[in-house]
Amino acid sequence: MRKLLLKNLLQAPLTEAPPAENETLVAELARTLDRTARRRLGRSLAIREVDAGSCNGCELEIHALNNVFYDLERFGLRFVASPRHADVLLVTGPVTRNMREALERTYRATPDPKWVVAVGDCARDGGIFGDSYACAGGVSGIIPIDLHIPGCPPNPTILLEGLIALVETSS
Ligand code: SF4
Repeated sequence: MRKLLLKNLLQAPLTEAPPAENETLVAELARTLDRTARRRLGRSLAIREVDAGSCNGCELEIHALNNVFYDLERFGLRFVASPRHADVLLVTGPVTRNMREALERTYRATPDPKWVVAVGDCARDGGIFGDSYACAGGVSGIIPIDLHIPGCPPNPTILLEGLIALVETSS
């Protein structure tokens, strides 16, 4: 027992080192997104996230936008609890048959003008879950989408670049 304790105390942690992320780039992207949203909408961007059946990998990257490292709320990027307060729906995963109606109702509950962003490879066409009996396919087959952000999963930098492109190019 003592040997095991000693070994555990002396060995290096088993967790991997965090990926090298360019803090300045992330902060600049977030500021650009905030500036663009304020120009287009007159205020910061409100986002409602919808997990339509993902493995949660995409959610981990989306949640990272709010963690202490990225902390993007300081730039005005806000996640809201209700679609009625949202400008953007971020939808992840293949749409499962169980989530199909919930996604349609969430879309209808979001006021116009609204944008829908499908996040991750599964959101495009069902991805690795596409052949499952429980899967109704990609997001665009259920509700109209404005942008697809590819990746499995896309990291926070790619998510920010996608949102900037969306707000800049939409009228
Ligand atoms: S794209 Fe990858 S991380 Fe995202 S839901 Fe699909 S399998 Fe999971």
